[in-house]
Amino acid sequence: MYFQKGFGLKSEVGPVLARTYQSAAVERLKALGYEAVAGGIHFKLAREFGFCYGVDRAVDYAYQTRRQFPDRRVFLSGEIIHNPDVNQRLRDMGIEILDESRDTVTRFREVAAGDVVIMPAFGVSVPELDHLKSKQCVLVDTTCGSVLNVWKKVHYYARDGYTVIIHGKHYHEETRATASQAMTHAGGQYLCVRDLVETELVCGFIRGTVPAADLKAKFQGDAASADFDPDLHLQRIGLANQTTMLMSETLKVQEALRRAMVDRHGEDGLEARFRAFDTICSATQERQDAVLDMLNGSPLDLMIVIGGYNSSNTQALARMCAPRVTTYYIDSPDCVGVDGIRHRPAGAHEDTVAPAWLPSGDARVGVTAGASTPDSVVGEVIERILALRGRTAGDLTQPAHFAQGSSTSAKASAFAEATADKTAEKQGYA
Ligand code: SF4
Repeated sequence: MYFQKGFGLKSEVGPVLARTYQSAAVERLKALGYEAVAGGIHFKLAREFGFCYGVDRAVDYAYQTRRQFPDRRVFLSGEIIHNPDVNQRLRDMGIEILDESRDTVTRFREVAAGDVVIMPAFGVSVPELDHLKSKQCVLVDTTCGSVLNVWKKVHYYARDGYTVIIHGKHYHEETRATASQAMTHAGGQYLCVRDLVETELVCGFIRGTVPAADLKAKFQGDAASADFDPDLHLQRIGLANQTTMLMSETLKVQEALRRAMVDRHGEDGLEARFRAFDTICSATQERQDAVLDMLNGSPLDLMIVIGGYNSSNTQALARMCAPRVTTYYIDSPDCVGVDGIRHRPAGAHEDTVAPAWLPSGDARVGVTAGASTPDSVVGEVIERILALRGRTAGDLTQPAHFAQGSSTSAKASAFAEATADKTAEKQGYA
């Protein structure tokens, strides 16, 4: 059995989801125009943040699945989304989240015929899906429509003999799933470039300045199809991306590769060698645009970015903020304590505690959250910050002189963004 559209239980799980994931503090802040003050703290909330439509749907389906199959074992093929709070709640409902493993048989060894397996918003790879089908499980597929849209483009490329270049992290589930779509076509090939540095290496090969051996040495394992041969497989390329990458970087990757193809083969007939579609999902783009608006608006003392540390789109938001304003990337409300804020600095693999992070007196605090962070988590963070000043969300009022975010000129924005990218690279977010 294979389900892709839920079980018609939305009205039953809707109130539970609202109780679990909504937040009175966030609703109040929104009602006050996304800016509010209490105890000298001026909060500015991003216009778009938190749960995206794909995550909303995936979590909804997971709750519906539990209700539909109360007596069966229910598994998640991996974290449904990259948010520790949401995943823990699903575990508490008796849904088992399977451990990561590159080996499909190992990954699903516990799953037996008749068990229910939920596939996450970022999808699973073709071999994994085939394996689950062969096990005769009940499959609940929550793959987001925006991810399916990328896969559609990948199929066009691979079908027409273009090697798929994916701007993404080759180890990320979504990118691995996307790459696997290319391999369903005879002769399908793919290559994953994580950033502009890796892209420039590919461009160098296309222009004839980087030897094939260097490229092969760099792109190993999941980063390229098994028999990828630069000499054969970079003649015709089609670009796609992991949906949650930094939009500005994806555009630069596309442009760099397009220029390299023009330098090598000329403008004539470029269409026959190079294809690109914008496959950043609209939710990711809106969240990044909203952060850019905040950064270009009235000055902030600090920015709080909330989301799982393995969440690609949250990392992208932190990457945008860190070069422009003091940024604290946190993954849960517990990070905010009286002794300081526990956060994950750029490029670090461990948390650190910043003791005197909140300026005394008036403080302007920006808040945003990745697409897998529910309002309940955002609201709790706000409540905890307010508690440091002995206030609650009920004390929030509209600030008298907290200017609305205004965009500077396009030139200044572009400069700021370029500077941000450079600094982010240095800081290790790249
Ligand atoms: S971030 Fe975009 S692609 Fe990913 S689940 Fe959300 S809407 Fe879908």
